[in-house]
Amino acid sequence: MKKRLQHILERIHQAAVSCGRDSETIRLVAVSKTIPSGRVREAIDAGVTILGENYVQEAGEKIKALSSYAVSWHFIGHLQSNKAKYAVRLFDLIHSLDSLKLARELDKQAKKINKIQQVLIQVNIGEESSKSGVYKQDTIELIEAIGHLENLSVKGLMTMPPFFNAPEKVRPFFADLRRLRDHIKNANIPNITMDELSMGMTGDFEAAIEEGATLVRIGTAIFGKRN
Ligand SMILES: *Cc1c(COP(=O)(O)O)cnc(C)c1O
Repeated sequence: MKKRLQHILERIHQAAVSCGRDSETIRLVAVSKTIPSGRVREAIDAGVTILGENYVQEAGEKIKALSSYAVSWHFIGHLQSNKAKYAVRLFDLIHSLDSLKLARELDKQAKKINKIQQVLIQVNIGEESSKSGVYKQDTIELIEAIGHLENLSVKGLMTMPPFFNAPEKVRPFFADLRRLRDHIKNANIPNITMDELSMGMTGDFEAAIEEGATLVRIGTAIFGKRN
């Protein structure tokens, strides 16, 4: 585990250096969906500090089992409004906000526990009907509306681009998300910051870093193939 993780961190560093970025500006989210808490603990012992989970209930059990560790938990899966109440209690950052309905529910639940919930807006950059996320052309409007919600704080954008075996084919989608981020940043929407770009997974994180990723979500390269 330690070796694998070190190798990934080295690759992140190299990708950053190759495009003149400081690797300190890139954070690794170790994606632990379906991975039992014992293995997650090994990853934490090896130096992982942020875990990414896709299912609220599964995450809740692991977070409880590993509550003695000072790590940060991020939610990266599709979130249903009826799970918002649990999500605000469990996660430091929710990567997958993609509707005003969900935003209002998260805001309401965060208010109840006196929390400012940090979120990213998930963009369906490839406009695939099978994927969640807001379409590019609807993103600014959604973000402006969310800016009025007192207990949410938008930090940036996230995407799951179309699947290709070759990272070079995914690269244009990463570049597209970065341009959208820059566009929204320039709009100076009140109560919104646009510093985070969550993009890149095991097969393509280097291209994502070269296109500006600040959070890379890596599962397989750390934990091995999932069942
Ligand atoms: C599973 C998952 C990942 C990690 O994918 P790997 O290819 O295993 O690195 C990243 N992001 C999301 C949203 C995921 O669901």
